[in-house]
Amino acid sequence: MLSRFFILGLVFAASLFAQVDPEWTEPFPPHHVIGNVYYVGSKGLASYLITTPQGNILINSSLESSVPLIRASIEKLGFHFNDTKILLISHGHWDHCAGSALLKQLTGAKYMVMEADVPVVEAGGKGDFQYGNSPGSFYKPAKVDRVLHDGDQVKLGDAVLVAHLTPGHTKGCTTWTMRVREGSKTYHVVIVGSPNVNDGYKLVNNALYPKIAQDYERMFRTLRALPCDVFLGAHGSYYGMEAKFAHLKNGAPNPFIDPDGYRSYVAEREQTFRNELKKQSKPQ
Ligand SMILES: [Zn+2]
Repeated sequence: MLSRFFILGLVFAASLFAQVDPEWTEPFPPHHVIGNVYYVGSKGLASYLITTPQGNILINSSLESSVPLIRASIEKLGFHFNDTKILLISHGHWDHCAGSALLKQLTGAKYMVMEADVPVVEAGGKGDFQYGNSPGSFYKPAKVDRVLHDGDQVKLGDAVLVAHLTPGHTKGCTTWTMRVREGSKTYHVVIVGSPNVNDGYKLVNNALYPKIAQDYERMFRTLRALPCDVFLGAHGSYYGMEAKFAHLKNGAPNPFIDPDGYRSYVAEREQTFRNELKKQSKPQ
C-alpha cells in the first residue's frame, strides 16, 4: 500500500515538472511561409517542413503527442509524411524533440543534431544542465544519425540549410538558416533556436555549465550578424506567428518578411539576458 502511494506521489511530482502549456497541444492551421518552407506545428510549438523534389526536411518533432498533429498538417498541405527524409531540431528540450524517436520510427528520417546536444537527446533528456534531474522533462531517447558542428550544411535536393551553434539555452542550441527563392527574389530565412534565459537558469557559478554566460554572449553575436529577411523561431511566439498568419493574404506583402522585427527581437532578448546577468552577478 505504502509503495503504491509512493508511486502515485512520484507520478504526481513528474506531472508537476512536465510543464505542458495548453497551446503546445492545440492544433494550428498549417500554412505556407515562403518558397519551399511551410509551418506544420501547433499553436505553441513550431515545426517547419522544407520540401524538395528528393523528399522533405522537418525541423522539430516537438512532443510525442505532436507527431500525429504534424503528420495531419503535412498531409493537409498535400505532402506525404513518409517523404520526411531528414529530422532537425532547434534544441534538445522535450518541447522540441520528445517526438523524435517516434518520428524516426514512422518515417525512417535521418536525425541530425548539434554535437553538444547529442548526449542529452540520446539519453532522453538526462544530462541536461538544468532539467537533467526532472523526470517530467524526460522523453524517449532517439539515436542521432549525423552529428553536426557549427556551420555545417544539411543538403537535400535543392535545399541547403546551415546549422549555426547558438548556445546558452542548451549547450547545442541551433539556429537554422537557409536561402529561399520566391519570384525573382532570394530571401534569407532565420529559424531562431532560443535566446531565452529560463526561470532558474544560473548564469553565474553554474557548476554544470561553467561557460553559460559566455555562450549566451556568443549566441547574441551570431544572431546579430546573421542576415535575415524571414524571421522564424522554435516557438511561434518569438516572431508573432499568429498575428502574421492573420495577415496572410493573396497579393499582399508576405507578413513573414520582417527584418526589423528580427533585429528588435534579438536586441530585446539580449537586453533581457544582460539585465538577468547583472542581477545574478551582484554580491548576495
Ligand atoms: Zn528550450
